[in-house]
Amino acid sequence: MAGEKRYVEVLLPLKLKERLTYRLPEGWTAEAGCWVQVPLRGHPALGIVTGVSDHAPVGKPLSAIGEVEALPDAPGVGAAELAFWQMVADYYLCTPGEVFRAACNVGLQRQILQAGKPRHKARKKKAAKNGEAEPPLKTLSEAQRQALDQTRDGFARHKPVLLFGVTGSGKTEIYLHLAAESLRAGRDVLFLVPEIAMSKQLQQRLEAVFGDALLVFHSRTTVPQRYAVIDTLRRDPTPRIVLGTRSAVFLPFRNLGLAVVDEEHDRSYKQDDTAPRYNGRDAALMLAALHKADIVLGSATPSCEALYNVETHKFVRADLPERYHGGKDPRVEIIDTAQARRLGNMQGSFSRKLLKEMDATLRAGRQILVFRSRRAYAPVVQCEACGEVVRCPHCHVPLSYHKFNSTLSCHYCGYHRPFTLRCPSCGETALMERGAGTEKLEEELRDAFPDRTIARFDADTTESKTAEEKMIRDFAEGRIDILVGTQMITKGFDFERLALTVIVRADSLFAVPDFRSDERAFQLLTQLMGRSGRRGEQGRLVIQTDQPEHPVLGRLLHPTQESVDAAGLLAERKAFRYPPFVRMICITVKDRYEGRVWNVCRLIKEAADSLGIADIAGPVTPPVDRVADEHIAQFWIKLPRNRSLADTKKALYERIDRIDRDFKGHTTIQIDVDPA
Ligand code: ADP
Ligand code: ZN
Repeated sequence: MAGEKRYVEVLLPLKLKERLTYRLPEGWTAEAGCWVQVPLRGHPALGIVTGVSDHAPVGKPLSAIGEVEALPDAPGVGAAELAFWQMVADYYLCTPGEVFRAACNVGLQRQILQAGKPRHKARKKKAAKNGEAEPPLKTLSEAQRQALDQTRDGFARHKPVLLFGVTGSGKTEIYLHLAAESLRAGRDVLFLVPEIAMSKQLQQRLEAVFGDALLVFHSRTTVPQRYAVIDTLRRDPTPRIVLGTRSAVFLPFRNLGLAVVDEEHDRSYKQDDTAPRYNGRDAALMLAALHKADIVLGSATPSCEALYNVETHKFVRADLPERYHGGKDPRVEIIDTAQARRLGNMQGSFSRKLLKEMDATLRAGRQILVFRSRRAYAPVVQCEACGEVVRCPHCHVPLSYHKFNSTLSCHYCGYHRPFTLRCPSCGETALMERGAGTEKLEEELRDAFPDRTIARFDADTTESKTAEEKMIRDFAEGRIDILVGTQMITKGFDFERLALTVIVRADSLFAVPDFRSDERAFQLLTQLMGRSGRRGEQGRLVIQTDQPEHPVLGRLLHPTQESVDAAGLLAERKAFRYPPFVRMICITVKDRYEGRVWNVCRLIKEAADSLGIADIAGPVTPPVDRVADEHIAQFWIKLPRNRSLADTKKALYERIDRIDRDFKGHTTIQIDVDPA
């Protein structure tokens, strides 16, 4: 081969659609899947070889072809991984390069560029206890055995299984049995959870059963730890079980045997800020199909999508209708805050009746969880003199008041400034906070229960992982009496002494302008209901609301037969042509110049029209129509689920991509398939 130039086609972790070609230096060899360092706009970049050729690409002068700079010594990317990236890119209308970037973030890229051997070995885990002391797997109850059999039946028919089981029914034990089987068969297991924050208990349980076979991978694992996980999977053929959040679907599994998606309905599975705007659950379904692996999705409140797939026989359903430890569903009580306010029965954000109940609960040596969907002290600050609401100078939203550091801050762009009482609009010293977020609730509770320990669990108090873990441990071990928090406190945790869960303003859950808001509110309330009274005794859930007649509350109080319910939910979606009966795509256009937003929108509308897309709403402005100085407009497209769907999506993507290129550097166009 002497004298012959060799050329490699390289995939880079960028939005770039094309593969770039580079020349290999004399004597170097490379093959598809191996890592390369190449020059890109004057900087070294990391890429993957996707093809090797003896010919230079036609129509390109040889001098314009860059030369490979290095071949980092990291185990290459397999054909299955590349195929998966392509599959995700095709479905979510983005480039394989963008999926590559999601699979391998900047930190990891740097680590691979410096590679060689990992500097940090995966932390040694305690070996599993051996059989005599404590059997690693629990003996299943009759109900669990039946559900396990139903699940295996589904697998035997090569179908994904929806495990529909109430909170505390012991779904985890079923996952563990299935995982052990897969590992015994020499195949890897992917165990997805929506957020890692609350899954410490799960992690400990998995560690006790699987010991060294367990790897953990999520957004808070450090880069060296992540690198160690990837390296272990690539180099070491021992079958592993990986516990992780959505991005774990991109790990280099050799031979995936089982995927578990716990709390499959959870919104946190969806990535919506950057491409690929994928749903971890749906990506796991694709991954399992690619590996011919089994997959089980579990939930106490399945998504409409999962129920639809059961109805259309794409999924098989397995049921666990009862709690493992028995016990009744929590008693749900609704407090009409509109009425309580009229009668003067409110003390700050809490009704006096509720405060009395809380007091009794604490006296009985029990704990309380207080949920509020807004963090900060006050979500809004208003001038009493001129009536002006203080807004972010860069976004079309009010600033939130954070008392602990005395700032006004924007939860959209991060802008913040010191809080003073002076109104930025009229200059009067008359600013007043309106409404109550978690921080204010914490303060009110400190006043009401001065002798009790009260803590707050939200994005402001859990910035560090250790603070977060400590707070969960303190609550679990009874050192905190009342825990106030946002959505973060609703996730899969088992607190033994928790007897009362309180939702302060349920109305904020119903007010979301989204066709999924009722479903979401119901899921959240059910999840909160599952939090209290887990050990046989009856827990309580108190919901404060101005709308005691809201249909979601009706559904919670008077649960009908689930099957009827599922049909009812689906019927509504069908009647209004919402997913899963259609495929939805949201296109978002952002620009600092409002005029250009509407120009680009006109072009997108023309493109959609020319493709015969009939059901397109927009351009419309979203509820928050300016963020970080950019104006925002959106289109909502519904495509029928038929054989031409994939082609229509592809054609639409190509048209939008062309517009995107024309306005590059000015206008951002984002495509979101199956927006959450
Ligand atoms: P889910 O995941 O459905 O909410 P879990 O798997 O957390 O439920 O189970 C609820 C509780 O019941 C846990 O404390 C668990 O340890 C216990 N449990 C479940 N199944 C068994 C079993 N077969 N033997 C002993 N304890 C079990
Ligand atoms: Zn802002």
